[in-house]
Amino acid sequence: MYRCSSCGRSYTESADSPWRCACGHALDFAERPTPPATPPELDRDAGLWAFEELLAVDRQVTLGEGWTPLVEAPDRDAEYKLDWLFPTGSFKDRGATATISQALELGVDRVVEDSSGNAGAAIATYAARAGIDAEIFVPASAKPGKLRAIERTGATVRKIEGSRQDVTDACIAAVEGDETDAWYASHAWNPAFFEGTATMACEIGAQRGWTAPDVLVTPLGHGTLFLGASRGFSRLKEAGWIEEMPRLYGIQAAGSAPIAAARHGSDRSTEKNDLADGIQIQKPARREQLLTAIEQTGGDAIAVGADRTEEVYDQLHRQGLYTEPTCAVAPAGLDVLRDRGEIAPGEDVVVALTGSGLKT
Ligand SMILES: [Zn+2]
Repeated sequence: MYRCSSCGRSYTESADSPWRCACGHALDFAERPTPPATPPELDRDAGLWAFEELLAVDRQVTLGEGWTPLVEAPDRDAEYKLDWLFPTGSFKDRGATATISQALELGVDRVVEDSSGNAGAAIATYAARAGIDAEIFVPASAKPGKLRAIERTGATVRKIEGSRQDVTDACIAAVEGDETDAWYASHAWNPAFFEGTATMACEIGAQRGWTAPDVLVTPLGHGTLFLGASRGFSRLKEAGWIEEMPRLYGIQAAGSAPIAAARHGSDRSTEKNDLADGIQIQKPARREQLLTAIEQTGGDAIAVGADRTEEVYDQLHRQGLYTEPTCAVAPAGLDVLRDRGEIAPGEDVVVALTGSGLKT
């Protein structure tokens, strides 16, 4: 059963269930398994599916993804979660393994997704692994490496001129109209995707001996990782496996920073950060949920500009961290938050680095 967290309507899970609530808000799973009172012995060979007992989706398709390293962050007194070390080079595989598992469970034979590249590559790859057809809408300006990763799976690629929002609008028009009968495997809307991204928090908890950090910093576009982390940590807390939630900070690209603007009146910048191509999101699908997660954990959202992003991007590479530009916003944001005193010296901080440099 799916439930709308805004109006409370319920929908049966099926290949034909709507991709969002009649009220316009995103759907989530109404139920999930009750975890054991203490953390079980984890099967690392199961990858992120070691946490299946915490998730509303059952494992159907996997490439052994998960358990990305947690390493010391040079010069930042923090730890980096190397969440680009996945089969398709981004954390989106967490969501794709869960979403395509759900698609198989429901008997879906064709999925559609819109993406700036990483989520599209993840959905296309896991669909290929599962023997499901995929159709991916991307910006005509998508990075060639990201496009190639999608095309080589045999997925149908639809290149859309215009903004990132135009790509989503075209995909939704196709889903709503007669153009495709595919199941909308959207990383922004599909509830299964967030079951998958919740596992990053579970891994961090396990890797730290079931203690949460004081602070988690992630890039923030649609908030697929941010909301996944919020859900994962809150499930660990509910289960009694950790004592406290971290404060969650989402870092947006200046010029595409609606959550920072909702918190602060503006994103404090007129500069446009096009370098962070993965988070050019003006209308996050789960806006209210993002604001609630920030409120509940005492975190925040801020925007950083292109210059600062580029500086940190270069620095990461020189430190052996071969990431894509988008994820440089997270350490750049940490620096800003420390300068402003919002994160105190000595606080225990984890920063997620989310996409590989190999596709860019
Ligand atoms: Zn609703």
